[in-house]
Amino acid sequence: MPQEGRPIYLDHHATTPVDARVLDAMLPFFGEKFGNASSVNHAFGWEAAEAVEAAREKIARLLHADPRSLIFTSGATEANNLALKGVVQAASPNSHVITTAAEHRSVLDPLRRLARRGTELTVLDVDSSARVRPDDVARAMRPNTVLVSIIYANNEVGSLNSVREIGQICRERGVPFHTDAVQAVGKVPLDLSDLPVDLLSASAHKLYGPKGVGILFFHRGGPRIAIEPLLHGGGHEQRLRSGTLPVPLIVGFGEACRIAEEEMPTEATRLAALRERLWAGLCREIDGIVLNGHPTERLPGNLNVSFEGVDGEALMTGLTGIAVSSGSACTTADPEPSHVLRAMGRSDGLTRASLRFGLGRNTTADQIDQAIATVVATVRRLREVRAALPNSRTG
Ligand code: PMP
Repeated sequence: MPQEGRPIYLDHHATTPVDARVLDAMLPFFGEKFGNASSVNHAFGWEAAEAVEAAREKIARLLHADPRSLIFTSGATEANNLALKGVVQAASPNSHVITTAAEHRSVLDPLRRLARRGTELTVLDVDSSARVRPDDVARAMRPNTVLVSIIYANNEVGSLNSVREIGQICRERGVPFHTDAVQAVGKVPLDLSDLPVDLLSASAHKLYGPKGVGILFFHRGGPRIAIEPLLHGGGHEQRLRSGTLPVPLIVGFGEACRIAEEEMPTEATRLAALRERLWAGLCREIDGIVLNGHPTERLPGNLNVSFEGVDGEALMTGLTGIAVSSGSACTTADPEPSHVLRAMGRSDGLTRASLRFGLGRNTTADQIDQAIATVVATVRRLREVRAALPNSRTG
């Protein structure tokens, strides 16, 4: 994709460009195939319903799930809210939920809101790579625990949690286990026919699909998990999510999953090699840099690095040639330093002076080399400026 005159895009955890094949698949459903998938009386509706079900099957195939276990939502924020509020509100009052300090805000915020209204909440600490220790999950269980929610792949530092082990702990105790797998789906192999996961959230725009559509998966084996819907109305999606289905977006999501399934093995290897090139290049040129996140158990396209002796804001302002995300202001409405890096025990200085590189389908080796040059030049310049200041601190 041409990037002329624009920064190099290395922020694929924030969002990904819609793949041209996805756009092609969607276009007819904005045009002549405009039917409502719930119109059961005519061909316009049948055509739309068929397209929705075909897409549902493609998404299910990527996840090794039963298509009937997928509920379409407007994205992962809604899927997370539906899983958390839905299970808690369907449970008896005074129930208990377990999560971690390194979750996405769309998990932490609904849970804190529930806690203000009486739900007992345990927020587990994470280790220095942002992973929760499965033993801590086991120890936190109470007789009234109704849900455990733990992120699959961290959106800031890319670390992968021990989802299988945590899921087994939950299964042994009969407690539903939810995982926010937004950053993992389409990036790492995920087999829900084999993983002890009861609820899972995903979002199309993180895997080269459109913005505005996601899914909540719910495990169909064993006793049905009681979920109170957030939206009431036409009773769509097994009465769990009322609202006319966004057919073009769903079709795009399906196509994005088909492509991800086909290309994941080669793409993951390619991205991991580019990520290593970026890390090696930075380490070769500058010292005083710290890797954030697990060295091996991490997403192939993620590199998160802190730079000693530079000011975080100056670093971001100086980096005009590349589009990356910083640990200083990770969420739109909240200029606080990253809660994830803080939970990992990073100092405020290192948290603010951190960059998240998210590599993706259009990233090339040439772009990585340009990114290395830009970051190295900026960090060197900022360190020189700081060294020249009277009473300079370099820590
Ligand atoms: N969870 C994680 C881990 C994410 O990275 C994001 C997107 N930043 C979300 C949830 C929210 O997804 P959506 O944009 O589909 O609401």
